[in-house]
Amino acid sequence: MAYLTLRGINKIYPNGYHAVHDFNLEIEKGEFIVFVGSSGCGKSTTLRMIAGLENISKGEFLINGVRANEKGPRERGVAMVFQSYALYPHMTVYDNLAFGLMLQGVDDDVIEKRVNSTAAILGLTDYLDRLPRELSGGQRQRVAVGRAIIRKVEIFLMDEPLSNLDAKQRVTMRSEITQIHRETGATTIYVTHDQTEAMTMADRIVVMKDGYVQQVGTPYDLYFNPVNMFVAGFIGEPPMNFIEGRLEKGRITLKNNVIDLNGVADQSIIEKYEGQEVAFGFRPEAVKIADGANENSISLTGIVELVELLGDNTNVYVDMHGVNCILKVDPHISPDADTAITFYIPHESVYLFDKQTEKRIKGTSKLKEKNQK
Ligand code: ADP
Repeated sequence: MAYLTLRGINKIYPNGYHAVHDFNLEIEKGEFIVFVGSSGCGKSTTLRMIAGLENISKGEFLINGVRANEKGPRERGVAMVFQSYALYPHMTVYDNLAFGLMLQGVDDDVIEKRVNSTAAILGLTDYLDRLPRELSGGQRQRVAVGRAIIRKVEIFLMDEPLSNLDAKQRVTMRSEITQIHRETGATTIYVTHDQTEAMTMADRIVVMKDGYVQQVGTPYDLYFNPVNMFVAGFIGEPPMNFIEGRLEKGRITLKNNVIDLNGVADQSIIEKYEGQEVAFGFRPEAVKIADGANENSISLTGIVELVELLGDNTNVYVDMHGVNCILKVDPHISPDADTAITFYIPHESVYLFDKQTEKRIKGTSKLKEKNQK
């Protein structure tokens, strides 16, 4: 299997647009890496530079330690799966799967064996005679994945492969792709804007914004140890709540609430930010409604605006005189809309950010240390 090195990779498009800035990453053999970020942040551009479909404006890309910038897509030994499936519409599933091998001049009996085993892995055995239009979206995407794995390459690249599928199919295909990755062991880079896909599939996630890598880490790391407000807000659903304000005597004062941060982090940190604008962050799932009041928690009061029952949990939208937040609570203790609510945030679940740089203030949130495996 292949290991990949991206060293100071940049993309400047011919129109002058600088789409990717100084992308650095070492990808281990067999790793499943996910690039995640909002639309337009440079994920596909980076993937296409790795595939050899876009030239690299600056920086170096290495496969197994060997410079590959000048190599064409075929020489790189990569297979790519696109969102649009890109199947040949007039060819059967069998021919779609076989086509790449036919072009390579592989013997017919070898092709037949490989097509049959690939179809078996993907549950396509009964559909080999069908045309793409006679398949469901999920089946078409399986054929597209099949065309990639049949080539037995060492590097898989997938660009939003599940975005044309409905929610249920996405969940199924998600675990199938993970399974296929386990079986093939191919080094895989997967692009998505969906943080749930990133969290459930990745060995490591690369979070991108505006062409810059924000953070690289395991799903666990990104959730418990985000480096800045963007990552904190992007990973997790519903997103982390932020309350912004000036720190005075270790407190942020809102209209009807005082957030006392003394005790949240070392006194030296609190003192360092005295008089400065900070963002106080907490995850919707970190709050307690009942039994939360104690000296190691922050209590806030607001009015319940909306209650969304989702089955396994309930999202409660709270308004605190114009400052809004979402709480994820046990459905059995859901409050009613238009009533007052008091909730508690344990000190260990509080994240503090420097409002100016949007970076996390070191030494806040003790969750990671506590949960370290
Ligand atoms: P993502 O995959 O994260 O949605 P892309 O990598 O497709 O983002 O695009 C990154 C940025 O580069 C976007 O602002 C996009 O408009 C721009 N871009 C993409 N392709 C080109 C191109 N051929 N010429 C100029 N700009 C481009």
